Amino acid sequence: MTQKPLPKGLHLDTLAVRSAVDKSQYGENSESLYLTSSFTQPDCETAARRFSGLEDGFIYSRFTNPTVASMEMRLAAMEGAEACIGTASGMAAVLLLCMGLLKSGDHVVCSRSVFGSTIKLIASEFGKFGVESTFVSQTDPQEWKDAIRGTTKLLFAETPTNPLTEVCDIKVLAEIAHNAGAYLAVDNCFCTPALQKPIALGADIVVHSGTKYLDGQGRVVAGALCASEAMVREKFIPVMRSAGMTLSAFNAWVVLKGLETLGLRMKAQSEQALALATWLEAHPKVARVYYPGLASHPQHALAMSQQNGLGGAVLSFDVQGKTPEEGRKNAFQLIDHTQLMSVTANLGDVKTIITQPASTSHGRLTEEQRLKAGIQQHLIRVAVGLEHLDDLKADLSLGLDSL
Ligand SMILES: *Cc1c(COP(=O)(O)O)cnc(C)c1O
Repeated sequence: MTQKPLPKGLHLDTLAVRSAVDKSQYGENSESLYLTSSFTQPDCETAARRFSGLEDGFIYSRFTNPTVASMEMRLAAMEGAEACIGTASGMAAVLLLCMGLLKSGDHVVCSRSVFGSTIKLIASEFGKFGVESTFVSQTDPQEWKDAIRGTTKLLFAETPTNPLTEVCDIKVLAEIAHNAGAYLAVDNCFCTPALQKPIALGADIVVHSGTKYLDGQGRVVAGALCASEAMVREKFIPVMRSAGMTLSAFNAWVVLKGLETLGLRMKAQSEQALALATWLEAHPKVARVYYPGLASHPQHALAMSQQNGLGGAVLSFDVQGKTPEEGRKNAFQLIDHTQLMSVTANLGDVKTIITQPASTSHGRLTEEQRLKAGIQQHLIRVAVGLEHLDDLKADLSLGLDSL
């Protein structure tokens, strides 16, 4: 069914519930879930035109599906990007990014503090195919500048980082990338477009794990890349068509519905996180709190200007621990005394999650790599959800009072 086009200049919260492909002939108000692997063609001439790209039309769900297209339209609109391509997971998005933009001999500069699997994929897997990489400080732009080579094609950043919430300056990194004739990709998983719009700050590509806040209720694994229409069409769709790191229609539909409440959730969960971080910072059993919304955070001012005045929903804190053994014992004891929070390494859920990064998300690092990344045994990460604040404080108190 052809629709009235959306008015121009709509706000993120409106785009989040209204951007989608046209309704079917039945006029469904909630977007349809098209569970089909292929699409029938009206005749051979039309099929030939569609297969050769001369005419738009759905062909085969490895690279074209209306439910996935709705998710892509909606996320692109929210990020302020021209286009988006959905992927099977956040890591599949990083894979597609690297396959689409890099070849043997190219060089990548990446923050040392990005998601662990991103480091492994770029350094080890793409290293095998002759892609070179340098890992630099999250917060010192001079290190990024010094790492640039003639062959540098891509700068990759993530902000704020997991679990220490270090913030990098997207505008400054975009300038460094563009002066070198390279692209800047930003993993926007922690902030989402509700808080931070990397493209408006100069980034060329936004990387997403839809598994986290975009779905927001811990149901599916999904991912996406947002970029210019030309980059998506010329660099990413051909790789998707050959390699098939495809987002399933079902998972796309779940994320599509999740996006409708993204703005509300990010605001509510950020407010809860700030309240919890403030309370923890004043607690006698807590040694240090890491949260961009706190005035004590080293990049507080940058975070507030770059993130729409909100700190996001992830915070970390150190309990006491004079030795690594004592720190680990205290962290485990605190977590095991909570009764409400989920003990799992995921984040981006409405259920609050508590983890000890050193033994879970960062457990594959050596003790030396971990210390270099600042992740000590006494560090605890909380990804704050939507339970009542008093219940979250009471739950953490069970742990803190046990120490
Ligand atoms: C989880 C995560 C990823 C990977 O996403 P998956 O959907 O799990 O593949 C990438 N970057 C960040 C920042 C993440 O938190």
